[in-house]
Amino acid sequence: MYQIQGKCVFKMSALNEPALRVPNKSTVIFETLDCFSNQLQLESQKMDALDWERINPATGPLYIEGAEAGDALKVTIEKIALAEWGTMVALPDNGVLGSLVTESEIKRLPIKNGIVRFNERILLPAAPMIGVIGTAPESGEVFCGEPGSHGGNMDNTRIAEGAVLYLPVYHPGALLSLGDVHAVMGDGEIMVSGVEAPASVTITAEVIKNAGLVTPLLENTRACSVIASDKDVEKAVFIATETMCRIVMKKLGLSLNEAGMLLSAAGNLRFCQVVDPKRTVCMELGKEILNSVL
Ligand code: CA
Ligand code: ZN
Repeated sequence: MYQIQGKCVFKMSALNEPALRVPNKSTVIFETLDCFSNQLQLESQKMDALDWERINPATGPLYIEGAEAGDALKVTIEKIALAEWGTMVALPDNGVLGSLVTESEIKRLPIKNGIVRFNERILLPAAPMIGVIGTAPESGEVFCGEPGSHGGNMDNTRIAEGAVLYLPVYHPGALLSLGDVHAVMGDGEIMVSGVEAPASVTITAEVIKNAGLVTPLLENTRACSVIASDKDVEKAVFIATETMCRIVMKKLGLSLNEAGMLLSAAGNLRFCQVVDPKRTVCMELGKEILNSVL
């Protein structure tokens, strides 16, 4: 089994040296740090001591032989094994409630037997998901904290065990990196952190030739979805909706009006996160209507 450990990037870019090269359809374990590079270990730590240069590491990149610009990388999320502790923060001026937060705070949450202990009274079932996962972007270097058409910090709660994510490939080898695993997170990630936890993530990467994706697609046992990110949340909503509309027209043989009406009747538009430099949303349609997204 292939494994990547101790190699991470803070920017996704075609300039990054591959951490590992594998044949198409390989299964690889990525050992990931939490989004703070595991710097926060105690609730008594001071946030000012945090090295912000080391925020949002992504393990990788993985070079998949045969992947070329214009292809899609099909990433099957086989397993997400969480560490025994998660971390959350509240930070003034960060997130939806940032204007109300007067002091920063660190919360450490034990994770045991699939349960995240928020406090003595409140227990949350773990629902592990990958916050950051992407290929090298089309141009330039993009911080791992930023989402885009290459993926990145999408913070989509559905990028979880059993899901299949399709990412656009812009450069040879695709250069897949991932990290920022959350033991559990609510849609929106309103305080800018989920329950941030180091993890061992097992994925299988397969190249789909000439898929011509404009934005990431996701499929799980229940639904198909299109994920889109933009500085302007309304633009992200448009990209996700239009892309799904085109898929529905082609796959179900509907006119634009009919496909739109179908999405209006049965499609669910959801926030992934509303707190990063670009906002991420997804348009989801049940498998009973659309049986595959690609
Ligand atoms: Ca994130
Ligand atoms: Zn995170």
